[in-house]
Amino acid sequence: MHTVNLDGTNIPVGKIVGIGRNYAEHIKELGNQVPDKPVIFMKPANTIIASGEKIVIPPYSNDCHHEIELAVLIGKDAKGVSAEEALDHVIGYAVALDLTLRDVQNTQKKKGLPWEIAKAFDTSCPLSAFVPAKQIADPQKLQLKLTVNGQTRQDGNTSDMMRTIAELISKVSSYFTLEEGDILLTGTPAGVGRICSGDKLEASIEQVGTLQVSVV
Ligand code: MG
Repeated sequence: MHTVNLDGTNIPVGKIVGIGRNYAEHIKELGNQVPDKPVIFMKPANTIIASGEKIVIPPYSNDCHHEIELAVLIGKDAKGVSAEEALDHVIGYAVALDLTLRDVQNTQKKKGLPWEIAKAFDTSCPLSAFVPAKQIADPQKLQLKLTVNGQTRQDGNTSDMMRTIAELISKVSSYFTLEEGDILLTGTPAGVGRICSGDKLEASIEQVGTLQVSVV
């Protein structure tokens, strides 16, 4: 059982729902199309590591990318909720990395195949501790920053999301139930890039926290 920490309490994790292509500049940098509906995928809970732990890049990839993202912890089941009521289902926010094997993902995309082997490998979801949602005045006004070996790679703001957290929860919950302990990864701003053995990553989101991990 994988758990996450919310304000000192351990909460068992259900599913992790990832959102792709939610920042315009990131869509451009990968040469993707703007989606008319959110791009949704899942990472199972085996992917989670905590701050201070190590990323292990699988041997079948030569191009593991960092993606800093705001993680949203669901505290109350959500099925078919409206955007107006969606944030009532959120109990916490954290800093996440949605590590992605870009070479493997590109091959899967070309073949029209699912992305899990590029997204769901062990250690692919480093997560900070969660802070209670009530401590965050406006989750759509948070600066996100990722450095690799001290150099800034990603520097964005949640205000640039194409779909808000509330809109994402509403849409996802129209497809399947979000349950207590589920985590939503809300997409990454521009600046994604390769990480290599020995790299030290520091991801921070203002008011939320900092996550430090390194690559084996
Ligand atoms: Mg992502």
